[in-house]
Amino acid sequence: MNPSAHPLPLLTLLESQERSDPVWIQVGTLLDGESTPRHHVHLVYDSETIRYVGALPPPADQVRPGQSAPDSILDDYTAMPGLIDGHTHAFLEGAELDFETRKAYQSQSADALLKAAESRCRKLIRHGIIAMRDGGDKDGVGLALSACKGSNDAADVFSPGPGINRIKRYGRFFCEPYETFASAEEVIEDRIARGADHIKVVPTGIINFAKAAVVAKPQYTVEELQGLTTAAHERGKQVMAHASGDIGIEVAIEGGVDTVEHGFFVRDDQLQRMADRSIIWVPTFAPVQEQVDHADAMGWSELERDNLKRILDRHAASIQTAQKLGVRILVGSDAGSCGVAHANGLLYELELLEQAGMPTLDVLNSATAGNARHLLNDVRYGRISEGYQPRILLTDSDPCHSVTALQEKRITVFDGHVFFSEDTNLSGF
Ligand SMILES: [Zn+2]
Repeated sequence: MNPSAHPLPLLTLLESQERSDPVWIQVGTLLDGESTPRHHVHLVYDSETIRYVGALPPPADQVRPGQSAPDSILDDYTAMPGLIDGHTHAFLEGAELDFETRKAYQSQSADALLKAAESRCRKLIRHGIIAMRDGGDKDGVGLALSACKGSNDAADVFSPGPGINRIKRYGRFFCEPYETFASAEEVIEDRIARGADHIKVVPTGIINFAKAAVVAKPQYTVEELQGLTTAAHERGKQVMAHASGDIGIEVAIEGGVDTVEHGFFVRDDQLQRMADRSIIWVPTFAPVQEQVDHADAMGWSELERDNLKRILDRHAASIQTAQKLGVRILVGSDAGSCGVAHANGLLYELELLEQAGMPTLDVLNSATAGNARHLLNDVRYGRISEGYQPRILLTDSDPCHSVTALQEKRITVFDGHVFFSEDTNLSGF
């Protein structure tokens, strides 16, 4: 069956007509988000729940009265959980490269930024991105979107509110400084009172591409960072840390953060300690790779281009070391940052992780059940399993062969509704 030639019949077959009206399909391959692929699997869902997953046909009480065969047999299709982006900036449009245009976009009113982000989150589900963990903004966009989680027509956003940087240091466009309050406890209490799902800290600056290093000294001492992570953990919140450069990564690890974001220039002994302490790594290849892809537009010289490539090669080598050591690697694109579009940026990040040597199945499982379980507090999606929400990607390309299959047209079942990726363009992402 070719869905682009016959979208309407497939849509009526896959869409749950009433809230509790079950749909029964059989797919050629099923990836549940956690285990290895299974073949010729029956799948029954309604608009709220996955009712049945199994090799045998479903029991009669899980399908419509008298139904004895699937609504649709999709032998050429793989079903997998919808994707979750583990690191985004929901308030930013990522695809734009021009510095002045980006600045103008960011200087819009908080209300205008929120409206654009809301529309983006509604479109994201049409491309199979069902949720995101935000990395912070200071305009209240992430927190407003977070308050609408579970709306059934948009990707869920988990937000830290403003990140926590040091006054006059890197991060002013998405942070409020630590110095606003007198103590670490008060800073954390403030974010939680505003509705933060997790805490974002900024222990380091960013990479200087001409020097191929993070040159600014870390923003926090280990003790200062421990004050923040202890206060967050005592209140049940995970701490995500923007950290690149081995000196700053050292502060993040010893400061007790839960996830190291970016982690460029991480040392092998640091990866070992991350494995030992169950600190997660979200490597975000995409924002640096985009600088290489658009080196002309960004105005990078030969020196900077060479450095960028060396930084990415080293990052790829660290992925392989991290895998050997047992570091949990999860998937975030940094969508919203320069050149990294929402949706396509995540698909690119999957591809870059695969190219770096992470096995295809690990990449897919990390971007679905891995992200859901470890970054979103074990929400009821990210897996295709009985009792989970029906947020399912269907593709007739083969993602088990390569994650690039997900860049082809795909169908998303989202809480009973069905969307075709080719029907929604990605402008304004
Ligand atoms: Zn970020």
